[in-house]
Amino acid sequence: MKTAGNMLLSKVNGVPFLQLSSFREQPWLHHAFATRQGGISSGIYATMNLGFGRGDTDANVLENYRRFCAAAGFCVEDLVATAQTHKTEVLRVGQKDRGAGILRSKPWHDIDALITNEPHVALCVYGADCVPLMLADPVHHAIGVAHAGWRGTAANMAGTVVAAMQQAFGTNPIDLLVGIGPSIGPCCFEVDEPVVKAFLANPLLLPQDCMTEKGGGKWNIDLWEANAQLLRSAGVQKIEKGMLCTHCHPDLLWSHRATNGKRGGMCGILCITEALS
Ligand SMILES: [Zn+2]
Repeated sequence: MKTAGNMLLSKVNGVPFLQLSSFREQPWLHHAFATRQGGISSGIYATMNLGFGRGDTDANVLENYRRFCAAAGFCVEDLVATAQTHKTEVLRVGQKDRGAGILRSKPWHDIDALITNEPHVALCVYGADCVPLMLADPVHHAIGVAHAGWRGTAANMAGTVVAAMQQAFGTNPIDLLVGIGPSIGPCCFEVDEPVVKAFLANPLLLPQDCMTEKGGGKWNIDLWEANAQLLRSAGVQKIEKGMLCTHCHPDLLWSHRATNGKRGGMCGILCITEALS
């Protein structure tokens, strides 16, 4: 199997997808991250655009979901979509929500993380530089996904979704596996002072380990390490970083910065395939 960063890269029917090895080893789970390849969209959305509402036709996006799900092994009917707005709200979903945001409109707004303990409820998280997190509790067979751009990271999206799983499912953070999917890396995420101030305002973050001052009012931030710090503060020990930078791989992945925002969207999907027996 090929690799990209620390991730495994497969291709089925001409549609590539990425996986994390620690999640692949869990027999009760199925997960995959899309790339920008293998879809039918054209122009600035070429070819695998999984983002509705970006200007591409809904028919194209839905066909892209069908192709991606067929290749990666999901049922389109099981998908449930976030409604990401760079906040930290978490929503528990279940069987009744299958299809929301994909096959029908979703009844929620401002939801950057989804959790469930029901099988065949496939949680979708979107990104094109922002960090997609996947969480799995093998003891309770419970999962979560979360979207953490710099705002969500500074506001502790990671710790918030861990706490939500503790409350909803009795998850012990020590048992949790957390995966960090394709997103902009420390190599490319250059920021200026307002972003740095937001990070310095979060006492759980260790600036010396996730920020590098470059001079001229610019810093580089390591969003992967920042999220890992927040997860460790929440008691999580098993963290797998995909180490795959969207901005460094503009042919394979959507990057908001590399395209100046003229782009499609990627999706990561996580689903429980076996109920706890
Ligand atoms: Zn990079």
